[in-house]
Amino acid sequence: MGELLPIIELGDPILRQKATVVENINDQRIQKLIDDLMATVAQANGVGIAAPQVAQSCRLFIVASRPNLRYPNAPSMEPTAMINPKIIASSTEIVKGWEGCLSIPGIRGLVPRSQAIEVEYTNRNGKLQKQEFTDFVARIFQHEYDHLDGIVFLDRLESTLDIITEQVYQKRVINNT
Ligand code: ZN
Repeated sequence: MGELLPIIELGDPILRQKATVVENINDQRIQKLIDDLMATVAQANGVGIAAPQVAQSCRLFIVASRPNLRYPNAPSMEPTAMINPKIIASSTEIVKGWEGCLSIPGIRGLVPRSQAIEVEYTNRNGKLQKQEFTDFVARIFQHEYDHLDGIVFLDRLESTLDIITEQVYQKRVINNT
């Protein structure tokens, strides 16, 4: 079982750095970081977390979609570590959806993303995976991938009018009022 790690927030320069490639996936530090990220994202009610968010600037993130307090309508999947990920192809269809970020607490933004993506990554056992993701999971992947390049969802907004607070989001978007 992993250990809970502190999450750094917007303004910390590490979040704006380009993360470096993971050279040795079998390294005990990398395997422990994966366990710790999985524990941390579950505890924080997140659906994904990238290593730079815990001040480790390397190309690795967890995608862990499941319904929780922050995303009640998220689909369920096995939490997956994705190492040295790449986006091979992106759909031309762009969809806007609400995103939050554990490093930007208290606000949500309506972010345009590709509806479908074809990706490649190495899993925690060192095996190269090729997959296609659509809709919400594709959104999580693109959000986490951005973290590896020092980009946050605010950078992707079309307008500052697409920013709302977490409280308004909970009331308006989840309860459809
Ligand atoms: Zn984030």
